[in-house]
Amino acid sequence: RAKAAGRNTFRFFEPAMEEEAESRLRLGMDLRRALQRGEFELHYQPILDVASGTIVSAEALVRWHHPSRGLVPPSDFIPAAEEAGLIVPLGEWVLRAATHEARHWPDHVRVAVNVSTVQVRHGSLIAAVRAALDASRLEAERLELEITESVLMADDERASAVLHDLRGLGVHIALDDFGTGYSSLSYLRQFPFDKLKIDRSFVSTSSEVEAATIVRAVAALGRGLGMIVTAEGVETQEQFDMARAEGCTEVQGYLVGHPYPAGEELRMRLGQAPARAVPRKRARRSS
Ligand code: C2E
Ligand code: MG
Ligand code: MG
Ligand code: MG
Repeated sequence: RAKAAGRNTFRFFEPAMEEEAESRLRLGMDLRRALQRGEFELHYQPILDVASGTIVSAEALVRWHHPSRGLVPPSDFIPAAEEAGLIVPLGEWVLRAATHEARHWPDHVRVAVNVSTVQVRHGSLIAAVRAALDASRLEAERLELEITESVLMADDERASAVLHDLRGLGVHIALDDFGTGYSSLSYLRQFPFDKLKIDRSFVSTSSEVEAATIVRAVAALGRGLGMIVTAEGVETQEQFDMARAEGCTEVQGYLVGHPYPAGEELRMRLGQAPARAVPRKRARRSS
């Protein structure tokens, strides 16, 4: 539209760009204050083991209670926090809060924490993980760190070394949003992943045949390499049946449960299989 309007419109972009830079700056300042005031909160989403039908972990997902904007989702502030250098202190808070909460869960339930590659490259992640485990007295193997694939680089030796060291502590490592980045097979050799999480865009694609084909291939690859394979974003019974039929080990999504605030009710939910997600055998529709 701007192009069609001709080059005279160019100057109208300048105030807009200034505004954008300004709003980014304001967001950075707001985030800094939010950290000091404790405006962040973690919600936890259950993850179901397909074979046993039990909840085996829950993923910590950060939310921001903004004083005027209400509940802000992470996609609206994580990139800004990374840019402003605030993801390191925010990530440390997330690690502390999540490990602390998980101490109240049944022993077999792990907690998964999302970690930004900025944290991985920063050099303080191992110390932060150690500190969180020490403070909470949570066993290392009950903590899982999720790294998003889209930001990993195959030749990142530093990141690779950090992930190997973390695994040395006993912490589990998951490759998040698999399929959204380069999905380079060399990642799978270079980084020590315990788990592959298939991005929800592949689970919920409009073509059932396409979804099943991709999920089957990734599940075979992951399981062949000894990894747990989780289908993300499972919202319907059909998607659940597909994920199970194609060999996924675990399922996460609104069908199993929505992200839920910490507290007694969450702890109870994690101790029992949610009724809606109890796997039931069903004939698959032929397509
Ligand atoms: P993610 O790690 O892939 O987390 C899954 C996202 O999918 C969550 O969004 C979750 O609420 C959503 N989701 C789960 N099941 C379903 C479903 O069945 N259908 C649909 N449509 N969505 C589903 P959320 O909480 O908005 O988080 C978005 C992303 O923000 C996360 O994606 C993660 O990359 C990032 N994030 C969240 N918490 C943290 C954190 O503490 N630190 C960092 N660095 N990143 C975080
Ligand atoms: Mg995740
Ligand atoms: Mg994910
Ligand atoms: Mg995702």
